[in-house]
Amino acid sequence: MSLIVCKFGGTSVASPERIQKVAARLIAKKQEGHDVVAVVSAMGKTTDELVGLAAALNEKPPAREMDRLLSTGEQVSMALLAMALEAKGYRSMSFTGRQAGITTDKTHLKSKITGIAADRIMKAVNDGIIPVIAGFQGIDENDDITTLGRGGSDTTAVAVAWGLNADVCEIYSDVDGVYSADPRVCPRARKLDFISYDDMLELSSAGSGVLQSRAVEFARKYKVVIHSRSAFSDAEGTYVQEKAEDMEEAVVTGIAHDTSEVKITIRGVPDMSGVAAMVFSHLAGANVSVDMIIQNVAEDGRTDISFTCPKGDMAKAMETIGSIMPEIKARECIFDENIAKVSIVGTGMKSSPGVAARMFSTLGENEINILAISTSPIRISVIVRATEATHAVQCLHTAFDMDSDSVFVETALSAEEIAAKMQKGR
Ligand code: ADP
Ligand code: ASP
Ligand code: MG
Repeated sequence: MSLIVCKFGGTSVASPERIQKVAARLIAKKQEGHDVVAVVSAMGKTTDELVGLAAALNEKPPAREMDRLLSTGEQVSMALLAMALEAKGYRSMSFTGRQAGITTDKTHLKSKITGIAADRIMKAVNDGIIPVIAGFQGIDENDDITTLGRGGSDTTAVAVAWGLNADVCEIYSDVDGVYSADPRVCPRARKLDFISYDDMLELSSAGSGVLQSRAVEFARKYKVVIHSRSAFSDAEGTYVQEKAEDMEEAVVTGIAHDTSEVKITIRGVPDMSGVAAMVFSHLAGANVSVDMIIQNVAEDGRTDISFTCPKGDMAKAMETIGSIMPEIKARECIFDENIAKVSIVGTGMKSSPGVAARMFSTLGENEINILAISTSPIRISVIVRATEATHAVQCLHTAFDMDSDSVFVETALSAEEIAAKMQKGR
């Protein structure tokens, strides 16, 4: 008998019928003799709708109130799932983040989990109850509700699995595991049976939405095994775990794309020491998450500095740069939202020269212009025009010999849900 934490994402609990299916899955596990703990996301697009409601009333909603609002989505689905389980004759209780003992730091909207006191959940398990925990939320030292960033229910699940010393953390979504690229963008993507924490973390950080990067980071740190699998089938998914000695090491494990960033360019900056330091320390002070940085060659003593950051940080970034324009004596500051980051990832890259050359020549042959480049030892990222992202992912997937013989077939979602997924670049 084992203890399994099962996390269900928004599409898996989008309707009463789907919640019934989730309940049936939990009951089946119970009948096999396992103890189960569920973690749920908000139903369907609830979180996006709540964000929209807030925006209708306040252009810059206070972060504390935003967290209070967003945390309600998960509280609906947790209660409904507990009711569905009870209706089928199984004892269940729902728990908010606070009731589940999840404490976080005070950074509203992207809080980090600082601790979990799992005794109340453990007691429920020992009493034969199926606990259902609201994902994505915790409580800070002021007793205020916090949320863990978009996709944060994954992190709740991993933290709960760690706190309960569970055997595995199963993360159910609308695809049957981690693929070599988003299968909705690259239908020839291949489902991976295993992926190492390092590769997964790099893919998630590069924008592969299937697992939140914080969740992978937490899992890697505390050695929690994640099983990413489908809520709509019984197929085995992908195990995210420590790299085993005999695990095959591909040069490129996967490709991620990310349309959630914006490129900001400060033009005509004097080419002298201290300017970059001033720009980026002010951005850091304003809590802007800067990703790539590009400084062009100077001409006539002036240069351009570009950087990318999440679209959500754009207003803050533009405001910050605006406030220091007189000091840095720049000519103007412009932004470009129509960009995408495409990254190839693989720990095998370290011992394989020529990967970058192959990537760039493939993009060149396909007439895809590269706007910026950044690398880590196991990742190469390029910025391209957003309209060229799908083509870039597909041609790189082919060039690095990753194409599967079969084509991904949609089994779970409605056309409307697929459309919503495709334009997710938050
Ligand atoms: P949930 O709402 O259940 O948390 P998500 O939408 O966060 O689910 O994650 C699942 C989605 O991640 C899939 O629908 C798929 O389009 C996308 N995705 C992106 N990259 C990958 C990948 N490499 N493998 C599988 N799915 C991916
Ligand atoms: N409901 C939150 C979101 O949509 C958290 C999650 O689903 O993991 O981002
Ligand atoms: Mg998710």
